[in-house]
Amino acid sequence: MQVLHVCSEMYPLLKTGGLADVVGALPTAQIAEGADVRVLLPAFPDVRNGIPDTVLVAEIDSFAGRVSLRYGTYHGVGVYLIDAPWLYDRPGSPYHDQSMRAYPDNHRRFALLGWVACEMAKGLDRYWRPKLVHAHDWHAGLACAYLAANGYPARSVFTVHNLAYQGLFAAHHMAELWLPSSFLNVYGLEFYGQISFLKAGLYFADHVTTVSPTYSREITRSEFGYGMEGLLQDRQRQGRLSGILNGVDEGIWEPSHDTRLTARYDAESLKDKAKNKIHLQKTMGLEVNESLPLFAVVSRLTSQKGLDLVLEALPGLLAQGGQLALLGAGDAVLQQAFLAAAADYPEQVGVQIGYHEAFSHRIIGGADVILVPSRFEPCGLTQLYGLKYGTLPLVRRTGGLADTVVDCALENLADGTASGFVFDDCDAAALGNAIRRAMVLWGRPKHWRHVQRHAMSLDFGWQVAAKDYLSLYQRLL
Ligand code: ADP
Repeated sequence: MQVLHVCSEMYPLLKTGGLADVVGALPTAQIAEGADVRVLLPAFPDVRNGIPDTVLVAEIDSFAGRVSLRYGTYHGVGVYLIDAPWLYDRPGSPYHDQSMRAYPDNHRRFALLGWVACEMAKGLDRYWRPKLVHAHDWHAGLACAYLAANGYPARSVFTVHNLAYQGLFAAHHMAELWLPSSFLNVYGLEFYGQISFLKAGLYFADHVTTVSPTYSREITRSEFGYGMEGLLQDRQRQGRLSGILNGVDEGIWEPSHDTRLTARYDAESLKDKAKNKIHLQKTMGLEVNESLPLFAVVSRLTSQKGLDLVLEALPGLLAQGGQLALLGAGDAVLQQAFLAAAADYPEQVGVQIGYHEAFSHRIIGGADVILVPSRFEPCGLTQLYGLKYGTLPLVRRTGGLADTVVDCALENLADGTASGFVFDDCDAAALGNAIRRAMVLWGRPKHWRHVQRHAMSLDFGWQVAAKDYLSLYQRLL
């Protein structure tokens, strides 16, 4: 079974969020299960530099000009690169310029990704032809439309990593994308008069998945559906929508082998975790004191992540003797607010604005609690890293957070199933109550240890998801 993953990011070559982590791990896990899996990516500079040895597979005329398809391998995974420097050779983010403005030709840049995927299904590489195209997020959504326009040369799965990003473009671009104009239809990829790359995936794919079971149900409701809920309800009724929980790449996120930590540890050597905490307190200029509960945030700073609630609940957290270490980048207002809190409470609040892979490991290894109070969360990875690192997640009960964290309610503590702190309402009072419960448990070190050990024993490896995707592919073929 030849499977082609079509996407815009792949860890560690290029990453802006959880999508990259998934594409960096899932193909390897599927190959370990015996599947013939490859990846198709635009040749962004970081991708091209990360795979310097490639061979030319084909050259082809497209609506975006003549492009080359190249092939190389990266840590045992075959990767096809779409070489079109006039589209992809731009510094910084793959999606926007340095002033955060989306590139004006994004419709062409990402339509080309989908178009090449379809050409591959038609046999662009004479020696390897996918029977199933697995497209990820809006960037790859048009792959499903091109397959439909070409008589379905391969089956398709479209995975939604985040429904909030829709890839909307003006309808007049339709003419240049080599798709039938009839597709610009409510029964197609039209969304209120615009082209929606996301909807193309949702509508034309043979099967749609989300990255957690709860999120797959939530998006059929208007609060989470961004206007796509009707289409998604249809799919749900037809059995063509399901959720498969993401895993953790244990080659990268494993506290007993993590070379980015000051001290490695496992469930039996949790006292070594404290060395990471001391180091983190020092580097962030916080009061160095092992007994103070250290809360952490590692996140994009967007309203999705509910970090405005953390700002509101912060005075309570600090009044109870807690500390906060935050690593994040994004919304300028949130950045300023957290920097101001750090200036006001230098011994209790440490803030690092930016994106730092190594530092994210040191924060998650060093903190006691990882905060993920998201308004919605398709899966969420940082709470999974928290579980593995014995850094108890404090999360809102939504999406993948609801599927992965069990609250420290008395009955769960008694049953030995508790792994973190979960709150329901999306407001600072509910978050504050959960923080209070974390503080109370912190005051009972024996219980805290117990929950930590249980959290660390949970298995969120990629094997389960890899097998689930493979049986889905088999069903579709
Ligand atoms: P999303 O994909 O919505 O950003 P996830 O929790 O699924 O959220 O994945 C986020 C990924 O990005 C995690 O691997 C997390 O550690 C990482 N990350 C987020 N912000 C930063 C940052 N500022 N520095 C380093 N890594 C970050």
